[in-house]
Amino acid sequence: MSDISTWPEGVIARYLTVAGATVDVIDKGEDTYWRYELVCRSCPETFDDSNEYEVRDRAQSHAESCRAMPRPQAGGR
Ligand SMILES: [Zn+2]
Repeated sequence: MSDISTWPEGVIARYLTVAGATVDVIDKGEDTYWRYELVCRSCPETFDDSNEYEVRDRAQSHAESCRAMPRPQAGGR
């Protein structure tokens, strides 16, 4: 079981999937069009946008539908 109480640097929001993984919303801290990034920790889903709430929205709905099991050891990154 990975420790979901410790958030990686830059993560501003996390959504729990039905499989127990997390979908993270990351603020890259850059003033670019791709500032906010969605990263699913159990499948290859990603999404970038400059609108934080758009990304949070996507993360929320992805977390509700993603059923991929998280890998036992979250790799690098
Ligand atoms: Zn996913």
